[in-house]
Amino acid sequence: MVSYIIVTGGVVSGLGKGITTASIGKILQLHGYKVTAMKIDPYMNCDAGTLRPTEHGEVWVTEDGGEIDQDLGHYERFLDVSIPKYHNITTGQVYGAVIEKERKGKYLGKTVQPIPHVTDEIKRRIRKPLREGKFDFVMVEIGGTVGDYENVLFLEAVRQMKLEGDKVLYFHVTYVPVLNALGEAKTKPTQHSVKLLREIGIQPDFVVTRSDKPLDDVRREKIAMFCNIQEEDVISNSDIDNIYAVPLLFEEQHLCKKILNKLNLKKNHNDLKTWKDFITKIKNFDKKIKIGIVGKYFDIGSSQLSDSYISVIEAVKHAAWDKNLIPEVQWINSKVFEKKPEMLSTLDNLDGIIVPGGFGLSGIYGKIDAIRYAREHNIPYLGLCLGMQLAVVEYAQNACNLKDANSREVDKKTTHPVIDFIPDQVNIIQDSRYGATMRLGAYPAVLKKGTLVHNLYGKNKIYERHRHRYEVNPEYVDILEENDLVFSGRSPDGVLMEFMELPDHPYFVATQAHPEFKSRPMKPSPLFDGFIKAAKKKSLRK
Ligand code: GLN
Repeated sequence: MVSYIIVTGGVVSGLGKGITTASIGKILQLHGYKVTAMKIDPYMNCDAGTLRPTEHGEVWVTEDGGEIDQDLGHYERFLDVSIPKYHNITTGQVYGAVIEKERKGKYLGKTVQPIPHVTDEIKRRIRKPLREGKFDFVMVEIGGTVGDYENVLFLEAVRQMKLEGDKVLYFHVTYVPVLNALGEAKTKPTQHSVKLLREIGIQPDFVVTRSDKPLDDVRREKIAMFCNIQEEDVISNSDIDNIYAVPLLFEEQHLCKKILNKLNLKKNHNDLKTWKDFITKIKNFDKKIKIGIVGKYFDIGSSQLSDSYISVIEAVKHAAWDKNLIPEVQWINSKVFEKKPEMLSTLDNLDGIIVPGGFGLSGIYGKIDAIRYAREHNIPYLGLCLGMQLAVVEYAQNACNLKDANSREVDKKTTHPVIDFIPDQVNIIQDSRYGATMRLGAYPAVLKKGTLVHNLYGKNKIYERHRHRYEVNPEYVDILEENDLVFSGRSPDGVLMEFMELPDHPYFVATQAHPEFKSRPMKPSPLFDGFIKAAKKKSLRK
């Protein structure tokens, strides 16, 4: 029988509930259980595709084309599984389904109400993986914090699940702050948060505390007493350098054993060695590699946020660790180069540059300038989606003498639209059908033998995930190739350019896809792998 691990949060948002959920799942997986994960997002959007990255972080793309909260990325990376889009549930999806059923007369004669009709729809969705019969554990993270209006029906639904006989354990993740003036860790916010949860009818089985330092016995006793749980069920999750070490932090506190005991499950074989060795290995590296991400989704109020590019950063880490290097990622706001072109020479201090995905106009010309600088100064370059489109624009302008070349997204009137709409996108945009209509999910590409990209993948046909509306305009392929740009991968019908490279450069590779979504710890993505190899070479030249 499948068991559900429900993870809720309290006190503040941004606690790392996603990492906590992924790490609990990982520890169960390392003990031989089959684990998957779901994310509940209480917003009204049907998916994350229409959200601004600076507000909500990166949009994660699944193999089957879902546009989802970045937490799903943590689950895929930690568990090394591919999670389908129906593992994301939002208020928009749930209400949409209930209203549609009501209109179709599915509830004829009944008053349709939040309880039971909306909660039933939520439970139906949470129980869907159970019907696949492939899993021992389903992790279910509920977004937001306890006390928010918007997640109340989701909490009510998971409360009912236990009553209805599902095997359920509730985890509550909270924050234990240290007040500067006192220098003392305070448990009161945790006590209040659990009190709120119990008012809803959920008694947590475990409380996971996020804090700077490991929780001491005094605070543990207090939390246990006020939250109505055993001391051993208060799990400390204090800050550590490497997120991938969190499962081991839980293992030290025998979390898997405690979960299995509560569910009356038998101990399975365990295989922690590979994961432990991986974490230990990373601790001992001493050589650094400096990678610059030239983007624009960094500023939020007066703070800087890297969440918009989280999968790119993780993919850099995976590839750098594989080469025994410590990755040092610098965020470079491309708008800087537009105002101060002399700043471009600072790129020389980096071992490699990435231009990641993006939408809209702001900072575009700064990115093109940075790409030109990387091309002309032999700095390893990796372009991802928009990063490939702008590399083609730059090459057309400066190496093919098409001065006015541009992407139609940037300049609607350009006489040389080297990047243009994918044909079926024209009607979609005219009809304002913006939700879930990009070219989304995994698509095949056929790689050209003898190219660097073919060499890196070691295969003729590969699948990477996509999220875009524009592409290389087929009318310009010949002129670009005549000028030595190589399209090293195309869609199987030969129409879409999926990969490009410049042969006379230490590493100038770009793709229309987002290979960062398939990078995993100990299994770096081939393009990132090649990029870090080239960056390492450059760092040794210094
Ligand atoms: N804005 C570009 C497009 O829609 C690139 C998208 C991306 O980088 N994901 O094609």
